Amino acid sequence: MVLSRSGEPLWEADLPLPEPGRGQVVVEVAACGVCRTDLHVVDGELPEPKLPLVPGHQAVGRVLAAGPGAERFDAGDRVGVPWLGWTCGECRYCRSGRENLCDRARFTGYDLDGGYAEALAADERFCFPLPAAYPDLQAAPLLCAGLIGYRALRLAGDGERLGLYGFGASAHIVAQVARHEGRRVFAFTRAGDEEARRLARGLGAEWAGDSLARPPEELDAAIVFAPAGELVPAALAAAAKGSTVVCAGIHMSDIPSFPYELLWGERVVRSVANLTRRDGEEFMALAPRIPVRTEVETFPLAEANEALARLRSGSVSGAAVLAVRSGPA
Ligand SMILES: [Zn+2]
Ligand SMILES: [Zn+2]
Repeated sequence: MVLSRSGEPLWEADLPLPEPGRGQVVVEVAACGVCRTDLHVVDGELPEPKLPLVPGHQAVGRVLAAGPGAERFDAGDRVGVPWLGWTCGECRYCRSGRENLCDRARFTGYDLDGGYAEALAADERFCFPLPAAYPDLQAAPLLCAGLIGYRALRLAGDGERLGLYGFGASAHIVAQVARHEGRRVFAFTRAGDEEARRLARGLGAEWAGDSLARPPEELDAAIVFAPAGELVPAALAAAAKGSTVVCAGIHMSDIPSFPYELLWGERVVRSVANLTRRDGEEFMALAPRIPVRTEVETFPLAEANEALARLRSGSVSGAAVLAVRSGPA
């Protein structure tokens, strides 16, 4: 499924099987998660995507072929292909364990063709082996919703009372990790989104309510997953002194001005950007131990536009995943 121009629907193209370059594997895709970032790419809210582009950065599949110098995986091995597709290894960020901030990073489904396809080529160093306990469809959301949610949770600090703003793919995973760590979870959803609140309570949230409401207690940390800037002052207003509000999305509408008093008391607002391979290794080891359970709603590959539309309207429960039918033989 190809994006030719931002703002246009994806179209079904017949593309040649990718050739694996040096250090790359070609992966036959079984499933690919649909992320809000895909929506921002398709809607033209992120600058200069590769065009034409195959979106998708939560691809689960099996290694079909390896290029020169690629020896990490055998044919048939199951791997996940995440957002971080390549880094330079040389810049000050790469050299200080912060490859997520690499100046020259390339991202799957943005700078590189991604997983809304029957096959993709990926640098083997950035692929992850996936925990065996998860079937393909259930493993897909671990690759971004889970991974970047996990990074956001770590950056939020270890506060006990955690607010999650926007209870979609990422929050439904983070809530389980947080409960496992003995934290208390407060879920904030759009007005009237009973489905999301039910999901949140079912996953251990002790309170679920309106995004702009004050929770019954102050929060010690908050993660804003919804791309709505007005949630930042709302989260700060709900947060205790010394707490951190993490903006976990790649794009957000402007944050409205707010009185300094909301930030006073050593409250912190920060973003989380991308992932490191280390985040991935840690999270893939942790998820099956909890065990994190992913709630997925599946769509056939050819209905990627429908899946994106459902995500745009906020009507996906848990995570949307494209089930890719049989790949090339
Ligand atoms: Zn770099
Ligand atoms: Zn993503």
